[in-house]
Formats: sequence, structure tokens, C-alpha cells
Amino acid sequence: MKKILVANRGEIAIRVMKTAKKMGIKTVAIYSQADRNAPHVKFASESVCVGEAPSNKSYLRGDKIIKIAKELEVDAIHPGYGFLSENANFAELCEQNNIIFIGPKSKSIQMMGDKLAAKDAVKNYNIPMVPGVDRAIVDPKEAVEIAHQIGFPILIKAAAGGGGKGMRIVEKAKDVEEQMKRAVSEANSAFGDGSVFLEKYITSPRHIEIQILADNFGNILHFFERECSVQRRHQKVLEEAPSSILTPKLRDEMGQAAIKVAKSCDYLGAGTVEFLLDENLNFYFLEMNTRLQVEHPVTEFITGVDLVEQQINIARNEKITLKQEDLKINGHALELRVYAEDPLNNFLPSVGKLTTYKIPVGTGIRVDDGFEEGMEIPIYYDPMLSKLITYGKTRDEAIQLMIEAIENYKIVGAMTTLPFGKFVCKHEAFRSGNFDTHFVKNYYTPEKLQKELEEVAELAALIALKIHLEEQKILKVPGV
Ligand code: ADP
Ligand code: ADP
Ligand code: MG
Repeated sequence: MKKILVANRGEIAIRVMKTAKKMGIKTVAIYSQADRNAPHVKFASESVCVGEAPSNKSYLRGDKIIKIAKELEVDAIHPGYGFLSENANFAELCEQNNIIFIGPKSKSIQMMGDKLAAKDAVKNYNIPMVPGVDRAIVDPKEAVEIAHQIGFPILIKAAAGGGGKGMRIVEKAKDVEEQMKRAVSEANSAFGDGSVFLEKYITSPRHIEIQILADNFGNILHFFERECSVQRRHQKVLEEAPSSILTPKLRDEMGQAAIKVAKSCDYLGAGTVEFLLDENLNFYFLEMNTRLQVEHPVTEFITGVDLVEQQINIARNEKITLKQEDLKINGHALELRVYAEDPLNNFLPSVGKLTTYKIPVGTGIRVDDGFEEGMEIPIYYDPMLSKLITYGKTRDEAIQLMIEAIENYKIVGAMTTLPFGKFVCKHEAFRSGNFDTHFVKNYYTPEKLQKELEEVAELAALIALKIHLEEQKILKVPGV
């Protein structure tokens, strides 16, 4: 493998290219007209404009991307996450054009991309599932009946859902019909597939997911868990590894379950099996993400394994040389997704020009980003600016380092979720490890953050005043 095209943008494009460069592999960047001067373009050995700014005219144009790959004699395509990463047709298009798709076979993507097909695939593997149905429901009357059997509250979910979208909680029978209609129409417009199904709504769950790697020689390993319970609207905002709640026994059980899920779909490469864990530490299979995940760096920190390097090796048809028994958890890592969103104003997107952009540096700090000072934040794509990752010997150390790193991350020109991240890290519920997926809903209000920010500002003003007075004192010393 001599040349890889990265079919993505921003931080993940750079993240993938860094490893490719390290391995002596040439890189090709694609970019939209809005990303002409983006850092991922400068970072690559070669770059090609793929189309206009909207992603359906550029980053989602599989046909154009394949054409570029062939013209530049690319050996493999890495899809990153989002965009075409979970598009089975694109993986197949690569296969047909003799370009290696760095990821699983299109068949596995197809199975796991549909939450119902995924449930069906793992059915015979003795994996605990969230109580619910394993087929699409169309008739609202039938939905009411099933909801009674499962017991309220229930969750209506889109089979093709992703990114936290297409889910509706229903508390009472009288609301089922109305919510079903909305869920179907939402699923149709967001995913082009209106299939919905029902699950029991687990009221106080934690989101625990297992990283796995599988090669072409029957080896499947798990790389422990990540906890992603701090969420907003079912989307992860702060992740960590390991989880503070798992015991070694539970970790092993969940790891084995994840390996079975990978087996059920004949998996290849890096993937993540997501579970919910209830208050009694029962775990339930949620879904499998058939790609590199946003929060993969926390696993890299605690295991010392470069997951992209493993992906590339597996795609080159190499054996995984690591052994499960050699893998150990070392220390603790946290990741904050830094979004250009205003936490004081309902997390509304806050685009603008980054007049100041200075990242924190130091031992145990990693910033994966795709921005630089002076850059305009494009309105067309996900508003994630970067991922701030910290690593310490203990959880407390990683949290403390995260707070310091947030304070040393200087961004002017857009509101970001940095202060929100600090709020989470300082919160007693988070620090004690006693929280669930409702952390943000239960504890966060803009008013609380505002108060904290004012206290900090007040303190800063006091310190400034003190320094000022002291300087005056020095100046006033008579006879000097
Ligand atoms: P992860 O599971 O890696 O934490 P997310 O669920 O946050 O990732 O999604 C990663 C990226 O992919 C985000 O930019 C998200 O918007 C996008 N994404 C994930 N699934 C879908 C989907 N089915 N449709 C559209 N975008 C998706
Ligand atoms: P997506 O494809 O959007 O990532 P998931 O099925 O992985 O969808 O669920 C995303 C999040 O939604 C979970 O992390 C969890 O917080 C919540 N969720 C999903 N299913 C349930 C459920 N049955 N009960 C409670 N919460 C759920
Ligand atoms: Mg998910």
C-alpha cells in the first residue's frame, strides 16, 4: 500500500494522514470549494477539489471520489467517520474498482447499519438485548399493543438512525400514535428510510462501548471500553476510558459479547459495539458502528495502540500481532468534543472567524483538530472544531489536566463548548463517577455556567486589582 486517499475533512482527515505518513504511505486529500485552504489539504502529499461546498456535492460524491482515486493511482481509501464511512454502496464501489476500502466488507456495513438487521444478526449469539421488537412496526395500533407488553416508557427508534437522531420517548399509550407518525416522517426525511421499531426505554442507563479489531485470519480482539454517558440529545459530548463503573469481570463479559457481535457479521477492521448498562449493571446490545469512532483517541491513550495503524495493517491483509492477554489498561483518558456552539444560548451553532486560536500543549494533552488561527468556520459541516484529549495516571489526574487544558485553550471569534466541558469536569456527579446519560439534563443550565464564568471573571478582576495595588506600593516606596 503506497498511497491512501482520505475521503473526509477536518480533524479526522489529518488524524488518519498522520499515521499514514508515519508508515511511509503517501496521502491524497479531497476537499470542497469551502475547504480550499483547510489544514487537511495542506497536510496531504496531493490534493484534489471534489466539488462545491455542500457535502452532497463534494464529500458524499462517492462516484467522483473513486474517479479521483483511480486517476491518482490510489491503493486504498480511508473514509474516516461520518460522510461515506458507513455507506455500504461506497464500500462496494471501492471493491468493484479494485481499491481497498479501509473498513469492513460492504455486507457487514449493511447488516450493522440497519439497527433491525443488526439485532437479527446477533440473535443467535446469546447477546443481551434491550427488550423490544426486532422488526419494523408500521401500524400504530400494533405499536400500542407492543408498548403495553414491553411496559412504558418506550422508545421509538429509526432502524437507519444515527448521530442521536430519529428517537422519541413515549410515556403514555395515548401518545404512541402521534409520536409514531412523527418518528416515521423524521426517519424518512433524515435517513431516506421510514422504518421504525420499539425498544424499552432504559430510564437510567450508562453508555458503554467496546472497541474491537478483527483481521482476515479469524483473530478478534477487544480493546476495553469507553464510557460516553455525558450526552446532549443522545449525542456524546465527553468520553472517557476506562469507565469508572466497570469491574474486571463485567469488562471481560462485555468484551466477549462485543467479540461475538463482530463474529455475527463477519467483521473486519476496527469497529465499536455499543451497549447500555442499567442501574443493576445489566448490559444490553445497542448497535455496532462499523468505522473508526470520534472518541477512539481515549482508547489509544490507555492501550498505547494506534488504531489507524491497525486499520491499515488489517486492510493490507496482515495479521493482528497483538494478543488479547497482552493488552492492559494503563492510566485514564478523557476527550471533550469542542464544538463551535454557544453553551449559554441553547448550544446554537456559532460560526465566525477564529481571530485567536491557540491550543494547549503539554505532557498528557492531545488536540486533534482541523483549524488554525485566522480561519473562517464553514457553515456547511459538523460544527466540531476539535477534540481535546487528556491522559493521566488516574481519573482525577486526567480530569484536573482537562480543566487546565481548557483554561489554556484560547479561542476568540466563536463561542465554543470549552466552558461547558469545564463545568462537567468540575461537577461533583461527574467527579464521583455517579452519573448516567441524563447528566446534562439533570445538572446543566446556562445560568449555572454563567454564574461560574462570572465568579472566574470576578476572581480575575480581584487578582488584577491586587497586582495593580502591589505595583503601586512598589512604586511608592520612598527614596528609591
Ligand atoms: P461516534 O459514534 O463516533 O461517537 P457520532 O454518532 O457522534 O459518532 O457520529 C459521528 C459523525 O457521523 C457525526 O458527524 C455524525 O453527525 C455522523 N453520523 C453518524 N451516523 C450518522 C447517520 N446515520 N447519518 C448521518 N450522519 C451520521
Ligand atoms: P445512534 O445510532 O444515534 O448512535 P444509539 O442506538 O446508539 O443511536 O443510541 C444513542 C443514545 O441514545 C444512547 O447512547 C442512549 O443515550 C440513548 N438510547 C438509545 N436507546 C436507548 C434505550 N433503549 N433506552 C434509553 N436510552 C437509549
Ligand atoms: Mg450509537
